[in-house]
Amino acid sequence: MGRIVMKFGGTSMAGSERIRRVANIVRRQQAAGHEVAVVVSAMAGETDRLVNFCREANPLYDPAEYDVVVASGEQVTSGLLALTLQALGCKARSWLGWQLPIHTDDAHAKARIGEVENEALLASMAAGEIAVIPGFQGLSDHGRITTLGRGGSDTSAVAVAAAIQADRCDIYTDVDGVYTTDPRIVAKARKLKYVTYEEMLELASVGSKVLQTRSVSLAMKEGVRVQVLSSFIDDDATPADEIPGTMIVSDEELEGHEMERQLITGIAADKNEAKIILTRVPDRPGAVATIFGPLAQANINVDMIIQNVGRDKGETDVTFTVPAADLLRAQTLLEAQKAAIGYNRIISDSKVAKISVVGVGMKSHAGVAATMFRAMADRGINIQAISTSEIKVSVLIDEDETELAVRVLHTAYGMDATDEAA
Ligand code: ASP
Ligand code: MG
Repeated sequence: MGRIVMKFGGTSMAGSERIRRVANIVRRQQAAGHEVAVVVSAMAGETDRLVNFCREANPLYDPAEYDVVVASGEQVTSGLLALTLQALGCKARSWLGWQLPIHTDDAHAKARIGEVENEALLASMAAGEIAVIPGFQGLSDHGRITTLGRGGSDTSAVAVAAAIQADRCDIYTDVDGVYTTDPRIVAKARKLKYVTYEEMLELASVGSKVLQTRSVSLAMKEGVRVQVLSSFIDDDATPADEIPGTMIVSDEELEGHEMERQLITGIAADKNEAKIILTRVPDRPGAVATIFGPLAQANINVDMIIQNVGRDKGETDVTFTVPAADLLRAQTLLEAQKAAIGYNRIISDSKVAKISVVGVGMKSHAGVAATMFRAMADRGINIQAISTSEIKVSVLIDEDETELAVRVLHTAYGMDATDEAA
């Protein structure tokens, strides 16, 4: 029999009724003979609520104390799930991040997992206990609680799966798989049966919200097979391995299932970016380094970058994007560097969205970007920035045009489900 990790997201854990549903799904897996470790998120909305308290307390909050606050959401749900499993007659106990421990670095609020100690877990599972682990939490070398960044429970689950060499990591969520795009935006979006790690990485990193990006890179690195599936199934439904979710697999495994590969696998929209423009930056060697050096030091990820053609007098505008959550910090840093950088004005805009088309198929096809630009132009959508990789083309647009852009592109690439396929 197998060893599996089951991870449940915030919507699945929101309230006693739903936790009971989760407990029943978990119990069925154990009854089927598996050793089971469960990783849970905080109740839906809870982390946002806790983050707001931090902001209210201090807009420039200390990330170490922020972690103390936001890690509590998962502590609550892990205890509640253990209690609920016990009420169903199962042996279960919670293992907080510092108890296992799950070691991380000390980059608070976005810590990276180092080692997950597995002895206690393996012993607990071998004794027939269901191990319940709060996602999102870790322990720094300085003995402090860390968190892994928003959505980090997925990464916790994959890390635990790798540490105990699980046969599979099932991520239960409020959607039943990975779609070509957000089905709430495009009714004709199709569910994908298989996605490669590489494609999922691009889809996740550009806002497909299904899985945290880091969890996918970790799964790729550690060779963890990940399935995304819904926790909202009937109580007497078939066990997880027969539920048709989406499997995230290697290129090699995908080749075995290559039925009708498409040019584009998915379209993602990300509203969590903010745009910064620095005007009249001196157009000389080193200018750009003085902008991005301090941001990198402050752990702020810069994504799209455009350096406009030089204006007169050897000056240029530099446009780039940062996560919206880091906008305030980025602005503060750049203002402090104003003299060193030598720019004139700082303009920021968080009302932007990044739209990306992704597919391994574009490695060997020309014209993907041209199709995108034409489709957007035909609908009068203005493109503010562009970036590309081998399997992705992204554009930055006005946030109000997000839904329109996604719909237009889904049709432009012929991805709308036919009635037969839907
Ligand atoms: N509760 C955390 C968040 O909302 C972690 C997670 O759910 O994955 O970001
Ligand atoms: Mg999540």
